[in-house]
Amino acid sequence: MTAQSWQSLCKKKYRLSLRLFLLLNAISALFTIALPLSGIRGLTLPLCLILSASVLVMLYQWKYSKKKLNITLISFLFGCCWAWHIIIKTRVINADDSGYLLIALLSVLFIGALAFSNNIIAFVLHSFPTFVACLWLSTGEISIRLFYAFMLPLIGISIQYVIQKRNDNFSQALMYRLIQERKTLNDLSMLDPLTGLYNRRGLQHKLTNLLALDDGTRFVLLLDIDHFKAYNDHYGHMMGDQALIRVSAAIRDAVRSRDLVARFGGEEFMVLLNSVDLERARIAAERIRQQVYDLDIPHMFNESVATNVTISIGIAPLEDGDIEEALTKADKALYEAKNLGRNSILVSGDLQIA
Ligand code: GH3
Ligand code: MG
Ligand code: MG
Repeated sequence: MTAQSWQSLCKKKYRLSLRLFLLLNAISALFTIALPLSGIRGLTLPLCLILSASVLVMLYQWKYSKKKLNITLISFLFGCCWAWHIIIKTRVINADDSGYLLIALLSVLFIGALAFSNNIIAFVLHSFPTFVACLWLSTGEISIRLFYAFMLPLIGISIQYVIQKRNDNFSQALMYRLIQERKTLNDLSMLDPLTGLYNRRGLQHKLTNLLALDDGTRFVLLLDIDHFKAYNDHYGHMMGDQALIRVSAAIRDAVRSRDLVARFGGEEFMVLLNSVDLERARIAAERIRQQVYDLDIPHMFNESVATNVTISIGIAPLEDGDIEEALTKADKALYEAKNLGRNSILVSGDLQIA
């Protein structure tokens, strides 16, 4: 789930509550026309307005479901119409029939409480005109009952609103945390845990983004630590890991941040040099080779020869974004560089230079 889907869920809830509100109003208006309170029939103008507006707004929302309608304004206008209807109706029925006012107010409150259990403003705007009209029309003790009938759902909805708000905040915080953790996990899955360089997955991901940019001519470097099996055999796997970490850092330090460095396999690395010509690519490769050598990690290859940990490098141009082709060429060059005695650099189709 994303922040967008959370927003669309909120919009959906908003639309549904408006639909419910319109439906309840239409049903109530129809019911009032068919079975009027106090038995006195009479089609009032506000009642017609409520019925026709409910149907029209429902149809409008159906057709233009993307458009957001103002619930606050609609609820207030409907509330005014109900109040208007009650004033007209009270004039034609017996003035002593105070029960009518109470039932009329309760009906309006009922619609609001059902449709706006989460929207305190809409609830108040919808029921307040009726409440004021009923209070104005009422006499004596009934006013207290009207006041009670209005306040009770108001308090209930306020509490409900606070509870819902807390739930929403909690769910939203949880969702953002999950999104953040997913991003962290995704980032971590692209990195090699030992060296912190991109792994193959990260490399693939980065390449897709990088190759989309017009970043001049590029060169691919494949690097492999020389006689690393012997190093492991001699110094142990733990020391081998330490050497790998230091060599990785040296490679990363020797190139620019715009260049891409990845751990390609066990003791193999790949560097993608962006916006360089062949000469600069050679210089960069030489700098990497030298910096690894300068780490001065002792590597007793055999009893008689003591040397440092070194790397060999194969270079190939990246042509037409064909990374597979460039890697194949760089791998061949690397193989040749190894044959030339290791601690060497070779450009694909070229001679050894170091
Ligand atoms: P060459 O000069 O031809 O590349 O010889 P090499 O011994 O480096 O090549 P080989 O492919 O025979 O051996 C690679 C070694 O790298 C074998 C493996 O033990 C070691 N290696 C690969 N990944 C790791 C790792 O994560 N940690 C450690 N300590 N060693 C590793
Ligand atoms: Mg290897
Ligand atoms: Mg090796």
